[in-house]
Amino acid sequence: MNERKPLVLIADDEQSASVLLTRIFEREGFAVEIAKDGEIALEKARSLRPDLILMDVQMPKINGFEVTRQLRDNPSTARIPVIFVTAAAREPSDVAHGLKLGADDYIRKPYNYHELLARAQSKMRARQLEDRLQRRSEELEALVRIGAELNQRLGLEDLTELILAIATQEFDATYAELVLFDPQGRPILVRDNQNGMLAPDTVFALLENPNSLLAAVYRTGEPLLVPGPGNSPGTLAHLEQYGLSSAMAAPLKHHGALLGTLIVGLHSGRSLSGSDLRMLRLIGEQAALAVRNAQLYAELQNYAQTLEDKVQQRSRELQAAQAELIRTEKLAALGRMAAGIAHEVNNPLQPILNCLEVAIEDSEAGRLVDSEILRVAENEVQRIKSIVSRLLDFARPGNSEHTLVDVHELVNEVLILTAKQLERAHVSVYANLSDAPPVSGNSTQLKQVLLNLVLNAMEAMPGGGDLEVSVYGEGGGTVIAVRDTGVGMDEETVAHIFDPFYSTKDEGTGLGLAVTYGIVEGHGGTIQVESSPGRGTCFTLWLPGANQMSASRV
Ligand code: ADP
Ligand code: MG
Repeated sequence: MNERKPLVLIADDEQSASVLLTRIFEREGFAVEIAKDGEIALEKARSLRPDLILMDVQMPKINGFEVTRQLRDNPSTARIPVIFVTAAAREPSDVAHGLKLGADDYIRKPYNYHELLARAQSKMRARQLEDRLQRRSEELEALVRIGAELNQRLGLEDLTELILAIATQEFDATYAELVLFDPQGRPILVRDNQNGMLAPDTVFALLENPNSLLAAVYRTGEPLLVPGPGNSPGTLAHLEQYGLSSAMAAPLKHHGALLGTLIVGLHSGRSLSGSDLRMLRLIGEQAALAVRNAQLYAELQNYAQTLEDKVQQRSRELQAAQAELIRTEKLAALGRMAAGIAHEVNNPLQPILNCLEVAIEDSEAGRLVDSEILRVAENEVQRIKSIVSRLLDFARPGNSEHTLVDVHELVNEVLILTAKQLERAHVSVYANLSDAPPVSGNSTQLKQVLLNLVLNAMEAMPGGGDLEVSVYGEGGGTVIAVRDTGVGMDEETVAHIFDPFYSTKDEGTGLGLAVTYGIVEGHGGTIQVESSPGRGTCFTLWLPGANQMSASRV
């Protein structure tokens, strides 16, 4: 790095003295400026900001004390070290006065120039240290502020904008650019303070150009400074592309991995320095942390979304499985009903056969066929037809269409469908149908629910008993209660009856109540059971009224 020579301002009206001092300092590698009076001294101190002032006390226009006082009053010159050079004859009180005004030291004429140099150097070193400390603490303060600001942003978009804004402001930069890389080192985000977001492929060329700042940092993972065009022909490409006169770049690293690069450039005027680079590196560290946080946050959100998708997928699968269960149970119920149905169909067949026989005999004997007899046969055929159509109704593949369902009609249909079976099982049926609002639902599914409850009740009364089906309105919806005087259940059994495949019967599928539960839930309803062993069971179903149903679907 090329440091400029330290500058000493010699304020002395005596030409011989200043010539001598100039020699001494120049020989030691200082640059020297001369001021012949206090006014010029003040002016040069303000414009040149020397690293040290050697100040004669007795000077024309403004004396050394006054110059010092004015320097100290102005923040831009307040910290320049001042050494008074006083005539030996002067009073010690003068020295005290000078020191009080803010001089850093004094030396009496005639002086030993080794001593003068040593003092000058020590004052300058002290001031440099002080300056560095001051800068350091300012940097630290800025970093704490920057870190806090950055960590408030969890969105990557927002965050990258802020990083560029901070870099631009911190260095008064004309150009600032942030590139983020994926774990494979491919650019995934490019943004600069002039164009905003850019497509990642806009930096491909720079990444492949060994003379670009971007490529240099990408390769080494180290910060890099190009103070001016003359200094580093090796990294000129980047500067040329953006018309910069001075630029620097720092990596965004997290646990050794390169997350990105931050580049800052100036168009003209000031050139960037080593301390700028140090600051940029520290900003890069803060930015890397914040970027990593934002990425983790995004990953987490993504994960949550995936999880939600998975849950949705699973519930779709469950719904499909449930539909399959409904189908299976329907087949099982159908099988169990088949025997009863066969009987029901068989019953009217005999009278039909009898009627037909009589009719054939009459017609063969040339007699008029008795239409009364044919009427009886027709009635019996109608009966079979209605049994078959009800059966078909039930066996028809279910759709998920919801319509207004009249619960009284529903109960009647199921009771008619099971009437013969119940009769043969010596079960007396009581229906108490009070007023109840229609429900919005799938009538096939609701029929199946009721059929399950009625068949279960019947199966719970092997020696016969009473079956009571009640319907009434409650809470804006409709209650269907199915009560039997059967064997009942203990608590242990009740706890499991809605589990699929739970059955206490030799021929049971254990699906009836599981399916029932699913259908009732799908309708936004509830199902409850009360039972006592040896006395009977009551299933109470509640379905919301049509206007209460929201979006639930089976
Ligand atoms: P399945 O009828 O094929 O056994 P369900 O799911 O319909 O399957 O019924 C599960 C079990 O619940 C039955 O095995 C029986 O133990 C019990 N259960 C259901 N309804 C009644 C009832 N009304 N009275 C007594 N027990 C019943
Ligand atoms: Mg059952």
